[in-house]
Amino acid sequence: MIRLYPWVGPMVALLLSGCSFQAERADTLLHNGIILTLDESGTQAQAVAVRHGRVIEAGPERAILNKYHAAKKVDLKGAVLVPGFMDAHAHFVGFAESLGAADLVGTASEDEVLRKAQAHAALFPEGWVLGRGWDQNDWEDTSFPDRQDRLDSLFPDRPVLLERVDGHAVWVNAVALELAGLRAGTRIDGGELLQNKEGDLTGVLIDRAADSLQSWVPEPDSLSRARYMKEAARQCLEVGLTHITDAGLGPDDVAAIEALQEAGELPLRFSVMVADEPDALDHFLSKGPRIDTSGMLDVRAVKFYMDGALGSRGASLLEPYSDRPETRGLFLQNEGDYLEKVIRTQEAGFQVATHCIGDAAVRRVLEVYCDRLGGVNDLRWRVEHAQVVHRDDIDAFGACTVIPSVQPTHATSDMYWAGQRLGRNRVRRAYIYESLRNQLGWLPLGTDFPVEGISPLRTFYAAVVRKDMEGYPDQGFQMDEALDRLSALKGMTGWAALACFREHDLGQVAPGYRADFTVLDRNVVTVDAEDLLGTQVMQTWIGGERVFERKRGSAVPLP
Ligand SMILES: [Zn+2]
Repeated sequence: MIRLYPWVGPMVALLLSGCSFQAERADTLLHNGIILTLDESGTQAQAVAVRHGRVIEAGPERAILNKYHAAKKVDLKGAVLVPGFMDAHAHFVGFAESLGAADLVGTASEDEVLRKAQAHAALFPEGWVLGRGWDQNDWEDTSFPDRQDRLDSLFPDRPVLLERVDGHAVWVNAVALELAGLRAGTRIDGGELLQNKEGDLTGVLIDRAADSLQSWVPEPDSLSRARYMKEAARQCLEVGLTHITDAGLGPDDVAAIEALQEAGELPLRFSVMVADEPDALDHFLSKGPRIDTSGMLDVRAVKFYMDGALGSRGASLLEPYSDRPETRGLFLQNEGDYLEKVIRTQEAGFQVATHCIGDAAVRRVLEVYCDRLGGVNDLRWRVEHAQVVHRDDIDAFGACTVIPSVQPTHATSDMYWAGQRLGRNRVRRAYIYESLRNQLGWLPLGTDFPVEGISPLRTFYAAVVRKDMEGYPDQGFQMDEALDRLSALKGMTGWAALACFREHDLGQVAPGYRADFTVLDRNVVTVDAEDLLGTQVMQTWIGGERVFERKRGSAVPLP
């Protein structure tokens, strides 16, 4: 909270009451909408007045329009305005970097690969065209492709390198071969350069030959990194995101975000967790928490890893994996080192967040946390993911005020195989979002993108319906742990704000809060479940500025 001099409050009140007979000035009025304020009283409003990037008041249509005068009026035409969506755990910079190469995973034909490469080339019209993830075994014609069929003619002047899904092969065009000085007859030990019947290189290079060509691809420079970040931000605004907690960055990444924000080219808000790397800790902890008055960029948490992931059996479990009884996964931290770093983080005034997927990791971290915190507190230490939690440990979240930070799309991505890893009984203790919400009465939601898609509406759907996009399973996955709709919405707004100390600033449409809004074409709290997936983000507002508006008739499926 901002501490005011004692005389400021009464003076403001006096000024306000003095003006009550004439219209008060606002910068923007958004009206004729359904406004879910998500404030403490749960008020619904029709109009909201904004000044200097913050909400002055939300209320009934007539009352707000009569009370305020503004140069700019935006008719919401019955659309639904909610506080701007927040992602409580994502990897924005990782997502931006992934945009440097076209995503070719799951492509069903050479044709689809080429189309995606072309789309990517159009997005970033200079330098190498990169792609990653094709697998000719998924195509109807499972033979390796030949650059001379179409790749060369589609990309006559830019080098192209498309990496196979396993990373052991690449497919490149004539320009790339030329650059690297590879021709028919070139020999590379430990590598292979495939040729067609005519004896020409097809552009498919295996192992060492692939490596030798990869070495010609320049590391992305700061200019291209900036391009990827701007494109990543554009995509985030399009799905209604206004604030992202990036779960683990170093000084260079934070400097890159800052530079783009200062240049006015990155309108998203960030709360940054510092990555657990010696340089990053030295750099940030010595300075103390960074809390930005513009509300664009905070750095006040540190992110540790206690274990790996369930899919690869790296999550640390109390009992062996059901589908591989010789392993329980592993800890990524030695207990002593971890404790030392937690203490150092606490003493520097930073919030502690630790990645824990398996129940053994959750238990170990809760023990350290509770030991340091000693009970109810307001330090807001976090357990990221909290995917499998032993029955005996769950109450420690409440008892030591530890925040479980969860990603509902993990449940619907993992549900096909989680039961194999964990077995029939233990999987009941996984993805237990409603039980975790009960611990503190609130629960921040995120995605972990780019591990999952970026859309908060998919998070909402996974949290309340717990089905995949095809409607599987019929009854939803472990529905006793589904969240109710209002909770899911709060998890992506006010509760996400609480988890990063922004609850006085973000996550409500209420006086004094930042004017960050997401405008939807339907009311996700009341619409039928089957209509949820068709929900469209129509507008996104950050700090009283409209940063995204969907063109009429350009409905898109959830990304
Ligand atoms: Zn993560």
